[in-house]
Amino acid sequence: MKKPVTIIGAGLGGLTLARVLHVHGIASTVYEADASADARAQGGMLDIHEENGQLALKDAGLFDEFSKLVYPGGQQSRVLDRHGNVLFDHPDDGTGGRPEVQRGELRRILIESLPSGTIRWGHKVKAVSSLGGGKHQVDFADDSKETTDLLVGADGAWSKVRPLLSGMKPVYSGISFVETYFHHADTYHGQTAKAVGGGSLFAVAPGKGIQAHREPQGVLHAYIALKRPEAWFEGIDFSDRESACATIAGEFKGWAPELTALITNCETAPMLRMLHTLPVEHRWNRVPGATLVGDAAHLMIPSGEGANLALYDGAELGKAIAANIEDIETALGRYELELFARSAAAAVGANEIMEVLFGDNAPQSLLDFFAASISA
Ligand SMILES: Cc1cc2nc3c(=O)[nH]c(=O)nc-3n(C[C@H](O)[C@H](O)[C@H](O)COP(=O)(O)OP(=O)(O)OC[C@H]3O[C@@H](n4cnc5c(N)ncnc54)[C@H](O)[C@@H]3O)c2cc1C
Repeated sequence: MKKPVTIIGAGLGGLTLARVLHVHGIASTVYEADASADARAQGGMLDIHEENGQLALKDAGLFDEFSKLVYPGGQQSRVLDRHGNVLFDHPDDGTGGRPEVQRGELRRILIESLPSGTIRWGHKVKAVSSLGGGKHQVDFADDSKETTDLLVGADGAWSKVRPLLSGMKPVYSGISFVETYFHHADTYHGQTAKAVGGGSLFAVAPGKGIQAHREPQGVLHAYIALKRPEAWFEGIDFSDRESACATIAGEFKGWAPELTALITNCETAPMLRMLHTLPVEHRWNRVPGATLVGDAAHLMIPSGEGANLALYDGAELGKAIAANIEDIETALGRYELELFARSAAAAVGANEIMEVLFGDNAPQSLLDFFAASISA
């Protein structure tokens, strides 16, 4: 390849690809819309799975650094009913295989592992187009442009690269999360901090739920889930913290105050995360010189897999390119064959988890799920 591989997006998928290429002596340039590494808060904890995310970090030569980031105790899981009664409490005994790290810290070690100048911050892609013969042009918002022999879309849910390969657009899943944060929770929100415990809390019911996670330095991070149409959420003014929190809390009347405090007492403005998905079987015909990784390829309902898949896709694509450097089309074809199969399986699993969490039989379905996972 004459030119560096062009990667759009410095999320976990794009950065892992750039790092694995670097490990194999292959240059890349990552174009990222954000102005800098710290331009945006990177959001909560991620559990990194033995079977995908951790393998990717080993391929990236960053497993030891990752291990130093692990938050002890973070794998504890608790299920409470709406009255605050503990239905299930599984401690973090260190054998869970899904250690928790802060997303921002994981992203930082990937960024720091790349040669300086690899990431071009403040480069928002406006459009991409084919020049024929496997070459592509990338147009940026500042009217600059680049041409490339190998273009990888790692630019997430609303990828600008995806339309080169697929006509599919994400559609609303029917469920959204409202995200809230609490600092110094043990001091100022003692009952709620106790209810959450040392790791994850799930208080779920048909069509709704309160999920929270403890983060380092006494932070609680909650996702309030509601199955409601887009228009229902669009009718809420999320810039008006009090009234938005009151509307969401109104959906949890009669729930224990230590749980609803995760909605009503939040210290930061609640953030709406409308959840969109691509079809479970999303795939495309081979397009010379271009492919996708992570959410750009397979946007699914959050089930704890998305970041792990992005890491894994990045590593697998990096290795496929390195193994077929003289024949990039073979590399992309092999990578996509496996990508399509694993993402379809993960998307089916993600939909099943949504049913376990918020289906008609919740929370019993979640208790059954945990019981089956522990005995497996
Ligand atoms: C509410 C919520 C909770 C989640 N929780 C978890 C979890 O606990 N565990 C888990 O494994 N997964 C979780 N996920 C899924 C996970 O966040 C994603 O699957 C993962 O971040 C995908 O990584 P990515 O690198 O493909 O994309 P992203 O992380 O979205 O990164 C894409 C990058 O591309 C950049 N970009 C976008 N557009 C452009 C453009 N036009 N030009 C240039 N750059 C651009 C973005 O700024 C960003 O840096 C969650 C998702 C949501 C919505």
